[in-house]
This record gives sequence, structure tokens and C-alpha cells, in this order.
Amino acid sequence: MREDIVDRYVADGQAQRMNDMAWEKLKDWGREPGKAAVFTDIDGTLAPIVPTPDLSEVPEELRRLLDRLTQSYHVVAGISGRATPDAKELVGLDDVVYYGNHGFEILRDGTVEVVPEAVPYEDKVRELEALSREELEPRGAFVEDKGITASVHYRNASPEVGELCKAFVKREGERLGLRITVGRGVVEARPPVHVDKGTAVRRLVEEYGPEKALFIGDDTTDLDAFRALEELREEGVLRETLRIGVRSDEGPPEIVSEADLVVDGVEGVGEVLRVLAGKEGVRPEA
Ligand SMILES: [Mg+2]
Repeated sequence: MREDIVDRYVADGQAQRMNDMAWEKLKDWGREPGKAAVFTDIDGTLAPIVPTPDLSEVPEELRRLLDRLTQSYHVVAGISGRATPDAKELVGLDDVVYYGNHGFEILRDGTVEVVPEAVPYEDKVRELEALSREELEPRGAFVEDKGITASVHYRNASPEVGELCKAFVKREGERLGLRITVGRGVVEARPPVHVDKGTAVRRLVEEYGPEKALFIGDDTTDLDAFRALEELREEGVLRETLRIGVRSDEGPPEIVSEADLVVDGVEGVGEVLRVLAGKEGVRPEA
């Protein structure tokens, strides 16, 4: 066999063994859920990606499983790029904690808290939204009203308009002193304070104090959450962690390479939730 094929074969074998170990760990957590926290991204993870975000839906089975987890796990949180009320409406469960806008807002027990460092930037974000509406919406982009962050979606526009959106939001956003990030079919501007899905995970772990925590995600911004889990484990704050990557055509390669367990799409996430809920033996044979 050629050397590169042998290397691939060995690498595939290692990945398979890592995945097997992670499934075993999930089963263990399912037997003793009270000390574990379940953190998950929402779009592309619990809800399949659709042309516009207002058409997203969480499949009923996943909703029921998640509801079940809120009754036995230490804490269950949805950490999303969406505004928190929007995230809550999509998932539709009162007992889930919602960390929205990539970690800028938290919604629990009916109240939204904005990270105080971000408040002074609210006007700048509004200005960028207004400019984007004027310049980019006539060309087919969609500007989402999100409060403390601005999102310009170009999934339905031509690749040229996508490039234009990225360039425009980068230029104007930087002029206004905002931080720009690019995701799957979306470019976003936010206050330049260190807040991301990683700080959200850290804050939740510090507030709720679980011994174990996992995060499930499919996109670039989810890597911050993966890295925060790793740091919390190295610091001894968490005893066990699991980084679960949801593989997709549009996701970054790191969502696979940095994960302890890789699953395919929202269906694969369903398998993870079933095992966490203690429904063993349903794992698909690889
Ligand atoms: Mg996602």
C-alpha cells in the first residue's frame, strides 16, 4: 500500500477509537447526569440550516429529548448567535438557559441580561445596521435586527453579493470600532469586548459549578466553546469534558479536528441526546 494511504488508514483508525471512547463517556454521563452540564449551539446543531433564519425549526424529537435532559442534568444551555428571545422561541423550552448573541446576553427565568461592557456600543451597532439595510438589502442580503450585535445574511444572494457584504460590513464596522466575524452565509459586527461562546461557557461553568461539561457545535464560533472547555479541564475546574463536532459541508475543518466526537448533522445530534438521556444501545454502527 502507498504510504499516504497507510497514514490515512492509521488516522481513520485513531479517529474511530476516539469516537468509540467518547460514546462510552456519553453513556457514563447518562447514568449519572446530575453533575454534568449540556451546552449546545442551536442553528446547524439542533435545527437544520435553512435559507432564512426565521424558517428554522428544532425537530420535535430533539425538543422532547432536550426537555428530558433539563430534568436530570445539572444545567442545559443553548448558546447561540441569535438574540436570546429568538433562541428561546426556536427551542421552545422554559427550563433551558439561553446564552444569545454569541455570549453578549443571557436569558433565564424570563429576564435578559446584557454583558455590561457591551452596552456603550449599542448605538454604533444600530448605525451599522441602518447603513447595511440601505446598501445591501436592495442587492438581496438580509439584515437581521439583533440588538447588541448586527448580522448581515447573504446565503440567498449571489457569491459576488456575498463578497460585497463581507467587504462592506468589514469596512464600515471597523470604522465604527466594531469587531467583525464571518460564519456560514453571514457576516456579523459586534462590540469589541472579549465575549464569545467560550466566555459564555466559562461563565456558565463558574456560575453553575458542574463537574463535567460538553458542548455541541457546527461552526467557527463554536470553536471558542471547545477551547474554553479544554482550558477549564486543564485548570481542574472541570473533571471531564466532551467537545462534539457536527460535520457539514460548510463548517470549518477544525470542528472535526478539535472534537472528541464527530457526528453528522442534526440527526447525529439526536443520537447524542438519546444516549445522554440514558437510552443506550441506539448508537449507529460505524
Ligand atoms: Mg451553528
